[in-house]
Amino acid sequence: MMVSETGIKTNKVENSRIHEVDPSNIQFGKTYSDHMLVAYYEDGVWGKPEVIPFANLALSPATTFFHYGQAIFEGVKAYKDPNGNPIIFRPNDNWARFNRSARRMAMPEVSRELFVDGMRHLIDIDRDWVPTGEDTSLYIRPVLLAIDEFIGVRPAEKFLFLIMTSPAGPYYNHPVSIYVQDKYVRAFPGGIGFTKAAGNYGMSMLPTSQIKKMGYDQILWTDGFEHKYVQEIGTMNVFFIIGDKAITPDINQDTILAGVTRDSVITLLREKGITVEERNLSIDEISEAHKNGQLKEAFGTGTAASIAPIAALTIHDVKMELPPVETWEVTNWLKQELSNIRYGRKEDTHGWIVKV
Ligand SMILES: *Cc1c(COP(=O)(O)O)cnc(C)c1O
Repeated sequence: MMVSETGIKTNKVENSRIHEVDPSNIQFGKTYSDHMLVAYYEDGVWGKPEVIPFANLALSPATTFFHYGQAIFEGVKAYKDPNGNPIIFRPNDNWARFNRSARRMAMPEVSRELFVDGMRHLIDIDRDWVPTGEDTSLYIRPVLLAIDEFIGVRPAEKFLFLIMTSPAGPYYNHPVSIYVQDKYVRAFPGGIGFTKAAGNYGMSMLPTSQIKKMGYDQILWTDGFEHKYVQEIGTMNVFFIIGDKAITPDINQDTILAGVTRDSVITLLREKGITVEERNLSIDEISEAHKNGQLKEAFGTGTAASIAPIAALTIHDVKMELPPVETWEVTNWLKQELSNIRYGRKEDTHGWIVKV
């Protein structure tokens, strides 16, 4: 056991498992890096974080989150810059969002030192796990779990904060075919749609597997009152280029996850001089724009896929096809721009890149 400069106790593995990863064929989520960071919250305070070998946890079957889903997570990525140094994209924004999720789920907030500096230290230790190939990255997964050994219903008092990482290969995003959901609901005002709570994903499994069987890739979630206004696609934020404007649902209603990629895209579009409207956007308005030839491009945004072009939208039995993706100026430019910043190939003028 050593104590690093950051003061984080570190117990390194004797033998790395890095040889288990084939750099030319990285299977996302199949292999986890050698180490993980853990910190426990008890009696109202956070204990000191430690970096330990990635291993199974021993938890009582009565552990709170197994039963009641008091659990949140984040998704962040680290990249290798042109000099081979690991860099992390906007982890401070993920930290802020993690704490917003924590407050809504009656969980303790974590300090920036724990979340961001802990992450930097972990990635420093496992820096060989950040892949170098084209479009590859290290996916970083912080989680916060309620771990009281008690099945009575009440907010827990003990929590585990954990960061694990996994190498990610190129994300082949063929343009996605979208089904507009008018039965199930993802998020409601006053609900937890704006959080990265585990339950938001649990509830999406059935609706998503149903539309996949029907031949679609993702759901376009709509509001729960009328199924009229657009919320998100799958677990991504969504943008439509209508005429010469970009339109995305606003995040003021608790129903939309404030994506870090969404925010980055809005910033880059505005700097490019493109008008971005954050507002209610109805399915009818999209249909109308499609009819008039004004629906030019559409895409989802998220850390995993970055920018996912939408090939077609289906509402009931009506399919709206978009023009061929190769011809999309805005989306293709954005994708390149964002990727240049993430991989440190372009000067970071926004303070988005955090060095390890
Ligand atoms: C994580 C997530 C996103 C994307 O957020 P990013 O910060 O861009 O990765 C969008 N919608 C939902 C529901 C999410 O959980």
